[in-house]
Amino acid sequence: MKSLAKEENQSPKRRWSLQDFDVGKPLGKGKFGRVYLAREVRSKYIVALKVIFKEQMDKYMIHHQLKREMEIQTSLRHPNILRLYGWFHDAERIFLILEYAHRGELYRELRKNGHLDEKQAATYILSLTQALAYLHEKHVIHRDIKPENLLLDHEGRLKIADFGWAVQSINKRHTMCGTLDYLAPEMVENKAHDYAIDNWTLGILCYELLYGVPPFEAESQSDTFKSSW
Ligand code: ADP
Ligand code: MG
Repeated sequence: MKSLAKEENQSPKRRWSLQDFDVGKPLGKGKFGRVYLAREVRSKYIVALKVIFKEQMDKYMIHHQLKREMEIQTSLRHPNILRLYGWFHDAERIFLILEYAHRGELYRELRKNGHLDEKQAATYILSLTQALAYLHEKHVIHRDIKPENLLLDHEGRLKIADFGWAVQSINKRHTMCGTLDYLAPEMVENKAHDYAIDNWTLGILCYELLYGVPPFEAESQSDTFKSSW
C-alpha cells in the first residue's frame, strides 16, 4: 500500500477534498470537533480525519490556535509523534488528515487494566521522553500531555497527539492552559512557563500509569492545586 506521505511528496501542492476520502466510523470526540476513520480513495491509505466546524471556530475564536496546531504538527517528524499529513476545508468545516492510531487512547488501556506493569509503563515513558526531547529541541511545548492525548498505533507504539495547545517559542509563555490534574505549579500560579511544564506531566503520567490515578487528583480545583505543593 502506498503511503499518503509518499503521495504528498510526489505532489507537494496536492489539494485534498472530501471526495478523496471514504469516511467511516467515529473514533473520538474532542473539545471542538470529532475524529473519524477514513480511507484515501486512490491509495487506500487509512487515516483519521479530524473535523472542526467553522462555526465553532468563530464562536470560540480558535482560528489562531488551529493555525498553530496545523503548522506545528505538520513540521514534526518523530516515530512517537502523530503525523499531520495535510488539511482542507469546505464551506462549513476544516479537516485535518492525521495518521491513524489503531489502538486509540492510552487512557482507554489504562482504564481497562486499572494500571500498567512496570515494563509497559517504562516503555511508554521512554517513548514519551524521547518525543518530548525532540519537541523541546525544536522549541515546541505541547502543554496538554495527558492519557487522552497519547494514542497507540497498531503495534502499541505511543504517539503524541492533539497539538491544540502547542506553541513554538523560545520565550517564556503566559497563557494559562492544559488540564487540571496535569498542571505544573508555575501554571497553577499563573506565572510564566516554558518546556518544563511538559516535563512535569512526565512525572504525573509515570505515577498514573503505575497506580491508575494521577497523584494530585482531588474533588475540586483548589484541592488539586493544594495537594500539589
Ligand atoms: P481535541 O483537540 O478536540 O481534544 P483530539 O485531537 O484530542 O481533539 O481528538 C479527540 C479524540 O479523538 C482523541 O482523544 C482520540 O480518542 C480520538 N483521535 C484523535 N486522533 C486520532 C487518531 N489519529 N487515531 C485514532 N483516534 C484519534
Ligand atoms: Mg484532545
